[in-house]
Amino acid sequence: MSLEQVFASRTSQMKASEIRELLKLLEQPGILSFAGGIPDPNLFPAEAFSEAYARALSPENQAVALQYSVSEGYLPLRRWLVGQMERMGVPCDVDNILITSGSQQALDYLGKLFLNAGDTALVEGPTYMGALGAFRAYEPRFDRLSVNGNRPAQDYADAAQAAGGKVKFAYLTPDFANPTGKTMDLRGRESVLDLTEALDVASIEDAAYQALRYDGDSVPPILALEVARKGDLEACRTIYCGSFSKTLTPGLRVGWVVAAKPVIRQLVLTKQASDLHSPTINQIVVHEVAARMFESHVGTLRQSYGARRDAMLAALEKHMPEGVEWTRPEGGMFVWMTLPKNMDGASLLAEALRSEMVAFVPGSAFFADGAGANTLRLNFSSPTVEQIDEGMLRLGRVLRGALT
Ligand code: PMP
Repeated sequence: MSLEQVFASRTSQMKASEIRELLKLLEQPGILSFAGGIPDPNLFPAEAFSEAYARALSPENQAVALQYSVSEGYLPLRRWLVGQMERMGVPCDVDNILITSGSQQALDYLGKLFLNAGDTALVEGPTYMGALGAFRAYEPRFDRLSVNGNRPAQDYADAAQAAGGKVKFAYLTPDFANPTGKTMDLRGRESVLDLTEALDVASIEDAAYQALRYDGDSVPPILALEVARKGDLEACRTIYCGSFSKTLTPGLRVGWVVAAKPVIRQLVLTKQASDLHSPTINQIVVHEVAARMFESHVGTLRQSYGARRDAMLAALEKHMPEGVEWTRPEGGMFVWMTLPKNMDGASLLAEALRSEMVAFVPGSAFFADGAGANTLRLNFSSPTVEQIDEGMLRLGRVLRGALT
């Protein structure tokens, strides 16, 4: 018997990539890895969480903390988020907010909400690999979003129709994107709004890294720009996805969505059918820790990750050969490298692991259309400053070898 024969057709797009297989080699001891996309565990506010859990589990609080709760999410946490969103230029109320199990769950739900098989999702090239994975379960077609307004809306619409579906949304990571580290400027954000307006579709703003800015001026969220245009969140098509994963901890799986109420109501129904609600106790402790120390903790992260970003940029200047280019991110966790055209990131990774025990993620995995063979992603939030210098020295040697 082969159960694979009766798997649904949607599973055919859900394949483990070759790169994931290569990255399994990272478990070997001694590898200097820039492949992860994870926060530094030494910076988790572990003591604050420990105290918050103790309080949540105390005799007077445990009946609530251990109980089922509403699908919309823990009310005090949503109230706290109303304040945060307001400060970012998005006045809203608690009914505009749904708590999700990480922003990854929001991406899955939004795929479920919008995509019929054959519909088109507009994504950047490159974009967040996990978003492609979440959307792929709904059998979409991906089209490359050009964020400068020089491809007419009708062109996207015609291509989607020719493929037998409709454009449903544009997905963007405007701040310190994973994988490029780039930030979309005000004009880019306005042009996304113009495009989604012309197409009459949603824009999904993935703000996972938004709080992690190390220098430069902050740019308002796309949702804030749309609220400014329309004067009312209820008239907005932008759906904002936030997360505590990069600021407090990814392990508790707490994120949130902000959107017009009809969208939130449908997402609440989706959540009810999926997991009823995100873990009650995790929402309670995230609220307590966020209310107590969010700003100061993010300040600590900015200092620490900012220094690592600086160390990586300095090490790249020092160790990289001619012909290699990289981004200079103002925040987030990643630097994106572009190699000469004929080079291949996946073969380079195999060589880097073999000869120098250094790792990164080859860039092609971040493209829906398989482009970007000559690109790669480097993470600077997990390694120390010393490891960053040593790692870039090793990577420089691998590249020099490959270029000769
Ligand atoms: N969006 C982006 C751009 C990410 O990089 C990640 C995590 N790597 C997520 C969403 C998902 O994060 P979480 O589910 O932990 O909030």
